Amino acid sequence: TVPRLRPFASTVFAEMTALAGRYDAVNLGQGFPDTDGPPRMLEVAREAIASGLNQYPPGPGMPVLRHAVADDRRRRYGQDLDPDTEVLVTVGATEAISATMLALVQPGDDVLLIEPYYDSYAAAVALAGATRRTVPLVPDGDGFVLDVDALRAAVTPATRLIVVNSPHNPTGTVLSRAELTAIAEVVVEHDLIALTDEVYERLVFDDAEHVPLATLPGMADRTITVSSAAKTFNATGWKTGWACGPEPLIAAVRTAKQFLTFVGGAPFQPAVAHALTEESAWVESLRTDLQRKRDLLSAALTDAGFGVKRSAGTYFVCADIAPLGETDADAFCRALPERIGVVGVPVDAFVDHRESWSTLVRFAFCKQDEVLRDGARRLASVR
Ligand code: PMP
Ligand code: GLN
Repeated sequence: TVPRLRPFASTVFAEMTALAGRYDAVNLGQGFPDTDGPPRMLEVAREAIASGLNQYPPGPGMPVLRHAVADDRRRRYGQDLDPDTEVLVTVGATEAISATMLALVQPGDDVLLIEPYYDSYAAAVALAGATRRTVPLVPDGDGFVLDVDALRAAVTPATRLIVVNSPHNPTGTVLSRAELTAIAEVVVEHDLIALTDEVYERLVFDDAEHVPLATLPGMADRTITVSSAAKTFNATGWKTGWACGPEPLIAAVRTAKQFLTFVGGAPFQPAVAHALTEESAWVESLRTDLQRKRDLLSAALTDAGFGVKRSAGTYFVCADIAPLGETDADAFCRALPERIGVVGVPVDAFVDHRESWSTLVRFAFCKQDEVLRDGARRLASVR
């Protein structure tokens, strides 16, 4: 392995899922649902295969999906995207993130990440040979807010791009319009590019509102918006995502994408197009279900003695182990499968400054109720 990729040899998700298998533990670690997406979406994919849609689709993605993405974002957010030049179908959000980084940053550039950050961002920065700098979320009540002063202070002449992720993995924070506006002001003032990862855009709870960064003043021309079918339609294994943005930036991302995967899987594309167009009622029931599951798991963690953080979106709730007398989330999570048969992920796996995040554990609630109840029973004996 070349030095810049050595820190990324294994992922925390693979490690924790392996531990879940070894101890037959309830896996609240890796975030993936254990039920299928909309039945008609699955059928459309089967029909696509049966009808011979089994060869390379067009490079930018099938028109039916690019149009569905543009229409969906126009309907829900008022975004104005040309499906032919401003939408690119990718192999999941993950490829969109890596291709954006490879296309738009280079050695000598700094990339700002909000800490904690989803693990693929740091690896994508390393793939591009750039340098990452972090700006922290900080505790605020039972949740987190962006440290806007730290953001302003982190920008240097080398800064090229900032990665924003809201709803936020791992904390479940949904950035407010005010926080996103502050980010937008910094981006415009310093002539940066923003990469906004909105894979959990539909999974917001209570009165939280998802505000796409690209809809804020000055941002449409300098923002790559990334999302995917994974979380919206319970289809993490389909690896069908997209990048949206202004034509010159999307053209650059397409250049990189061509030589990463060339194209994504054909039969999934009409199926996801169907889902974006026709399955909003299904998505709403997923959202309300997840909100209830969040409540179920949050209550179980509180009852077990954890200090539970407020999750306003995503699949995840974070819990502090300090009230349990524990000091090291990494050691705690490595021991937990054998100790009580539950897997969680230490939040310090998503950070550069481990000292600030050493007692937080992320638990996923995107699981069937019986799995969550089994997890809750086991968590009750953690003390
Ligand atoms: N971004 C975030 C914040 C995620 O949590 C995930 C994975 N669940 C991804 C990107 C990757 O999405 P995809 O599976 O579409 O590549
Ligand atoms: N995004 C999922 C999570 O955060 C897992 C993705 C992965 O395994 N790379 O748990």
